[in-house]
Amino acid sequence: MSEYIHTEEFMNWVKGVTILKITKDGAVDYVKSKMQTFVNDLKHKVKDDDEHFKRFLTKVTVDGRVKKRHLNKHGGAFKYKIDSTCPNCNDMFEILQDNLDDSYKYVRWNCHDSSTTICPANYGWVLSKIYISYNIDSSLGPKDVDPLSVFSLMTLCTLFAAVKVIVVCLITLRNKLMHSKDNHLSAKDLEEAFENSKIFLLHTDVAPTSTNAVKQLESLKQKKIIAVGVDADCHELVRNALVLKKQCLENDMKVAKNEGNPVDGFENMLRNTTTDIVKETQKVYEVERRKTEEIQDLKMELDRKKKDLEFEQNEKQKAKNLIAKALEKERELDIRNNETKANNTRLLQKIQYLEEERLRSMELTENLRQEFAMVKEQLDQVRAQNQDLGLFGTCVASATAGGMLGGMTTGVPGAMVGAAIGPVVGVASATIKQYRTQRQ
Ligand SMILES: [Zn+2]
Repeated sequence: MSEYIHTEEFMNWVKGVTILKITKDGAVDYVKSKMQTFVNDLKHKVKDDDEHFKRFLTKVTVDGRVKKRHLNKHGGAFKYKIDSTCPNCNDMFEILQDNLDDSYKYVRWNCHDSSTTICPANYGWVLSKIYISYNIDSSLGPKDVDPLSVFSLMTLCTLFAAVKVIVVCLITLRNKLMHSKDNHLSAKDLEEAFENSKIFLLHTDVAPTSTNAVKQLESLKQKKIIAVGVDADCHELVRNALVLKKQCLENDMKVAKNEGNPVDGFENMLRNTTTDIVKETQKVYEVERRKTEEIQDLKMELDRKKKDLEFEQNEKQKAKNLIAKALEKERELDIRNNETKANNTRLLQKIQYLEEERLRSMELTENLRQEFAMVKEQLDQVRAQNQDLGLFGTCVASATAGGMLGGMTTGVPGAMVGAAIGPVVGVASATIKQYRTQRQ
C-alpha cells in the first residue's frame, strides 16, 4: 500500500471509486420510487391485498416455485412459469417477466434470504433482488449493497430502460476499478468517470432526487488529495474506497463460484485489499490520535493562559486596592497637613502677637523706667530738702506722733491735742517756707 499511496494514478483510482459510491447513493431514491410504483401496479391485480402479495413474493423469491419451461420439447427457447394455481399470482408473474430485459438470460428467482421478513416496507426491495445478479441476499435496501447491484437492477429491469445505456458505462467503470490489481486509474478514465456519473445523475428521471449527489460529485472534483499522512479526511477516503473494493470482490467471488468459474484471482486481490484496509485504518487512527493530542495540547495551553490571565487579573486587583489605599492615606495626610498648616499659621500669628506685645512691654518698661527716673529724681530732691531741714522735721514728727499717742493713752481726744499743737506746727511750716525761700 505505502509504495503506491502517493502516486497520481492511485489517487485517481480512489476518486474513481468514490464517484461510483456517490453515483450509486444518488440512484437510491430513484430506484426506490420506481420499484414502489411497480409494486403498486402489481398489487392492483390482487386488489391491494398485502397478505396475498406477500404470498406471491414468497413463492417467487424464497420457495423455488418458479420453473423453466422449454417452449420446444427438444430444448432451446424457454419461458419461466410459476407453480401456482392462483390466476392473480400467475398474472403478476407474467408482468414480472415482461419487465425482464432481454439480456437477462438466467434469472435468479430464489434471491431473498428468508431470515429477513417480507413486509410492505420492503416489498419493493425484495422485488428488486430478482434483477440483481447475486443469489440469496439479506440486504434491506439499495443502501446496503454495492454499486453493481443497483446498476445491475437498472440494466436488467426494463422499468429503467431510459438510463440503461449510461448505466452500462458505469458498470464498465465499476469492473475496471474493482478488478484493478494495482489500484490505478488514468487521468483520462477519471475524467470519463466524472462525465458518465454526471450524465446519469442529471438525467430527467434521476435529477429530482440526486441534488445532494451532484453536489458531492462537484466537491470531489475540486478536492486536491495531496496531504496524505496529514489529512484524516483523505485517509478516510482511501479507506472507504478499499472497503468498497473488498465488498465488490466478495460479491464477484460469489458470482464466480455460482457460475463455476475460478476464484483464485479474486482471492488474492481480496487478501491484498484486506491488508491495505488494515494499514489505512491504522493511518486514519494515527492521524486522529495526533489530532487528539494536538487538541489536548491546545486545551492545556488554553488552561495555562486562562490561569495566567486570572493571576494577572488578581494582581491587577491587588494593585488597584493598594493604589486605592495609598490614595486614601494621601487624602488623610492632606487633611492633616492642612490642619497642621492652619495650626502653624495660628501659632505664627500668636508669635507675632507675642512679639508685638513684647515690644509694647519693652516700650512701656522704658517709659516706666524714664518716669521712675523722673520720680526718683524728684524724690531725691525732696530727700535732699528734708535733710536740710534735719531735726525740725523730726521734732514735728515726734510732736505729732506724741500728741496722738498721748491722746490715745490719756483718754484726751487726739483732736484736742492736734488743736492744741496745730498753731505751733502752722507757725513751724511758715518758718520752713520762709527758710526755703531764703536758701534759694
Ligand atoms: Zn395468488
